[in-house]
Amino acid sequence: MNEINHIPSNHPRAQSLAIRQLLVNGFKSGLVVSEGLIAHGRGEAFDYLLGEKTSNYAFDAIKAASSLLLLAKRPVISVNGNTAALCPKEIVDLANETKSSIEVNLFYRNKTRENLIAESLKKNGANIVLGVGQKEFVKIPELTSNRRHVDPEGIFLADVVFVPLEDGDRTKALINMQKKVITVDLNPLSRTSQNATISIIDNIVRVFPELVKTSKQLKQMSQNSLLEILNNFNNKYNIDGSLKIIRRWKCDQ
Ligand code: ATP
Ligand code: MG
Repeated sequence: MNEINHIPSNHPRAQSLAIRQLLVNGFKSGLVVSEGLIAHGRGEAFDYLLGEKTSNYAFDAIKAASSLLLLAKRPVISVNGNTAALCPKEIVDLANETKSSIEVNLFYRNKTRENLIAESLKKNGANIVLGVGQKEFVKIPELTSNRRHVDPEGIFLADVVFVPLEDGDRTKALINMQKKVITVDLNPLSRTSQNATISIIDNIVRVFPELVKTSKQLKQMSQNSLLEILNNFNNKYNIDGSLKIIRRWKCDQ
């Protein structure tokens, strides 16, 4: 059943091919749109430049993100097709660890895909998935894409929104609504990375398990300790660090 098995484990690009396969499987089952495959390609190029591992800058951003989610009053994790195809179980685990709600939010929205994503999250243990069904959605001001439609009990009321693999316009619109925004984006120069409150510059498949592990540890700490982690984090400095990693490459490496 699982086509990933066809990739030989000793292939030098085995992991990257396995991730592609998850997305292609997601595309075939209707979770992922064709545009999502292209967006992944842009991410992969940056992953190559970042050395395909989680940098210390990304670890720091993960710690800050986890603190912010744990301190939030109404945290929401926003899920799109690529995220659902790559990390369905970890989305649910992170929601449980940080008491976050889960909301499906799609750029290319249609009822079938919305329901498929919600079903896949429920199969992985989610009880409630917002952003689906017949209810009246609320529109985020300033936005024209389908992503402006948000759940009145979810993103609309949230103080912290985690939007992995987000589009720049919506990140800006959420910030303009006075929300704190956490993102995962391999491109340190994207409008999303540049505008988010906390930008984790790393591959989502490495970030989610690390976020779950970190949240498990940090939730044992006091609110003051979490606040201190947040106060010591500087997003611009951190993004600059990722750009430095990219600039380190030399022709003979
Ligand atoms: P922006 O709208 O923020 O300027 P963009 O238009 O270049 O960005 P989008 O298509 O809106 O890009 O969003 C996809 C983003 O997700 C890209 O910046 C890409 O680098 C990133 N991305 C794709 N796959 C992954 C992944 N597996 N892990 C982390 N980031 C990824
Ligand atoms: Mg975009």
